[in-house]
Amino acid sequence: MNSDRIKAHALSLGFHLAGIAPAIRFTEADTYRAWLAMGYAGEMSYLVHNVEKRLDCRVLFPPARSVIVCGLSYHSSISAAAPVTSPERGWISRYAWGDDYHAVVKHKLLALLEFLRHETSATIEAKVCVDTVPLLERLHGYYAGLGWIGKNGALINQRYGSWFFLGEILLNLDLEYDSPAVEHCGNCTLCLDACPTVALVAPRTLDARRCLSYLSIEFKGAIPKELHSAFGKTVFGCDRCQEVCPWNQRAEAPGQPEFLPREGLYQPDLRWLSSLSADDFRKIFNNSPIMRTNLQGILRNTAIAISNTQICQPPLPLIKASVSCAANAAAIIRKA
Ligand code: SF4
Ligand code: SF4
Repeated sequence: MNSDRIKAHALSLGFHLAGIAPAIRFTEADTYRAWLAMGYAGEMSYLVHNVEKRLDCRVLFPPARSVIVCGLSYHSSISAAAPVTSPERGWISRYAWGDDYHAVVKHKLLALLEFLRHETSATIEAKVCVDTVPLLERLHGYYAGLGWIGKNGALINQRYGSWFFLGEILLNLDLEYDSPAVEHCGNCTLCLDACPTVALVAPRTLDARRCLSYLSIEFKGAIPKELHSAFGKTVFGCDRCQEVCPWNQRAEAPGQPEFLPREGLYQPDLRWLSSLSADDFRKIFNNSPIMRTNLQGILRNTAIAISNTQICQPPLPLIKASVSCAANAAAIIRKA
């Protein structure tokens, strides 16, 4: 099967990037294990489980010989705009302004798989992956030539920066492979310097326990007091180490309609967020990445943002609202 035809078809389906890597065991295995041993994964226990599958996709899917990696940009002219300045407004990470990407990326990968089945008479065994299986996606992206792993830990492409989602097809056929991308960080340290919590403890080494993205989305407990001021107006995710990256500042912005901001989510009004009921939350964030945290998490983060902005006395109305919809939200918010 012709690798160029596969990648060209992926682009015709709307992907912005496509490459092919061999299904191999990563030489980065020791680094990954050392990172886990340091406790840098925080409470993301799913990263500790299935380590062998993450380090070798043939353990995850034994027939795999090749990994087709595709990238879909979520960047738009809106997301290139300056970050929040109004004291009454919070910040949601760019990737979460629109629809949940899983279904969008998977739909395109399934169409690509259909194309593969038409292209060959060989028996195809394949596994379609979008973020929900134990697979080190960024490393596969690197080996497929989509970009290099920047000092901020993101996969960076010279044309699209790091504002893109990844999806993969593990395939049982040998194909012609791309070469790993060349690194273009050079002497730059802008991302390391910009991190407000020093979560990037070294180039490409993230201590998730200090990362606002992890804390505001994945972490379910009380946010450590000493990190509250660093939250600033964060209510979901943190783009700071990507915003400052020169490659992102010149990145193309395709403006994929599914990922444009839903009403109110670009620099959301903090008072509005603090008043959401459980019903409001379900309606507004249906099929949104923000469902990953829950109302309790959004209220906790909003309480911290309100405290930081001092737009009102924090946060008695918020506590009342949260108590009515989440059993332990009040305790979490009191510590906020
Ligand atoms: S996402 Fe934010 S907190 Fe996390 S490493 Fe980047 S700048 Fe630091
Ligand atoms: S900000 Fe600089 S060091 Fe960080 S990922 Fe971008 S180019 Fe690399």
